[in-house]
Amino acid sequence: MRLQLYNSLDRKKSEFNPIHPGKVGLYTCGPTVYNFAHIGNLRTYIFEDILKRVLRYNDYQVKHVMNITDVGHLTGDRDMGEDKMEKGAQREGRTAWEIAEFYTQAFKSDIAQLNILEPEIWVKATDTIDEQIALIKILEEKGYSYRTGDGIYFDTSKFKNYTRLSHQDIESLQEGARVEKNPAKRNATDFALWKFSPEGVRRQMEWDSPWGTGFPGWHIECSAMSMKYLGELLDIHCGGTDHIDVHHTNEIAQSEAATGRKFFNCWMHGAFLIVAGGKKMAKSEDNFLTLHNAFVKKGIKPLVYRFATFQTHYRKPMEYSEESIQASRNGLQHLQNQVRQAAQNSAGQKGTVIDEYKTRFLEAINDDLNMPRAMAVVQEMLKSRSGDADKHATIIDYDRVLGLSLDQVDKPDELPEKIKILIAERQAARDAKDWAASDRLRDMIQDLGYTVQDTKDGIKVIKN
Ligand code: AMP
Ligand code: ZN
Repeated sequence: MRLQLYNSLDRKKSEFNPIHPGKVGLYTCGPTVYNFAHIGNLRTYIFEDILKRVLRYNDYQVKHVMNITDVGHLTGDRDMGEDKMEKGAQREGRTAWEIAEFYTQAFKSDIAQLNILEPEIWVKATDTIDEQIALIKILEEKGYSYRTGDGIYFDTSKFKNYTRLSHQDIESLQEGARVEKNPAKRNATDFALWKFSPEGVRRQMEWDSPWGTGFPGWHIECSAMSMKYLGELLDIHCGGTDHIDVHHTNEIAQSEAATGRKFFNCWMHGAFLIVAGGKKMAKSEDNFLTLHNAFVKKGIKPLVYRFATFQTHYRKPMEYSEESIQASRNGLQHLQNQVRQAAQNSAGQKGTVIDEYKTRFLEAINDDLNMPRAMAVVQEMLKSRSGDADKHATIIDYDRVLGLSLDQVDKPDELPEKIKILIAERQAARDAKDWAASDRLRDMIQDLGYTVQDTKDGIKVIKN
């Protein structure tokens, strides 16, 4: 079965065909690095990782670009409110640049712990300011922008079919029911391309531009970066469902206005992680859980979360609860035991991937990434009468998509280089009787998912 994907543009599943045969350009909106990612954000990144792996499983060569939003968006969706980076900097008594660097590394560590493959290209918004300015200039030349007291805005009324992706009713949108009103805007849906630094204020992050010192609007970076790094390969663009109405709608409007060509053929959106009562997990709510707090600190392997997300289709909301995570913890352990058993029973004999089950797995994942169905196929295959060596070969083949490190179940956990270094530093601190440094290093090791114990036989390190 050929790969079918649900495209938010026409709200249906259809056969996926890339622009250039065999190659796929994939752009996924990355994190805003003013705080830790929460496990809701991470659900979206896992869905995108599954998409990428499924494309590869279908023999496509994938060029994946992810941005790091290190320029402060404003806290309101519509270009009003405080700057997120500067707010983060104030909160922590560090510079906006330090905040960006710290949370970028934290994000990279989170995704590594979830076996999310890194994009081929990472790109920071602050590294493409020139490209963003160039794009705004084109929009200005073509008459799509106008100037207000606080910035340069995109005039959405000049762009035909502005709500093509969101399918919203433009009339009611313009009335601006849910919109923070900015009286200087011509239409409620207009958005900032460039914001001026306020008079007499020196922002930590600001740049010169033909319109005055300031910083780019929220949406322009993704347009500039995807065009720069994907060129012609504008195949799939992803994010969470909250990006449909504003961020992605605006990306399409400004990109197509500038180039006169279609901007990305396929738009895919992951549904929310919600908490009991149906509330969305959000950075602004007190229901915010990080991978560290919800998993690592409690001694639960982050891959349990990856496994947990497979139980719900990516287009359906997933409810987080400690009970469901406990069930996934048992589920993953059971799967690992099954794989270990199959490996032991095959006693070094090399099996072959079972055709019938490969086809059934492919049918599930190619049906718009139906992971719950794929996981059912995994269980049927493992419980089938096939030989253990073949079962083992088949599950290892599936793991190219699952990404659960099922080829490692027999191996004792090798310590990552970073942990080895921290352990050595901690030992040096202890030798120097610097107990404060030793405790700090122990906490850092704990934060990375390992517990250090000092026993009479020396140091013992346990993976949480
Ligand atoms: P942000 O760092 O806020 O730009 O969000 C990063 C990604 O997470 C975006 O693709 C969002 O759409 C997505 N996202 C935000 N909240 C949730 C949630 N509760 N569940 C799933 N995805 C989310
Ligand atoms: Zn984006």
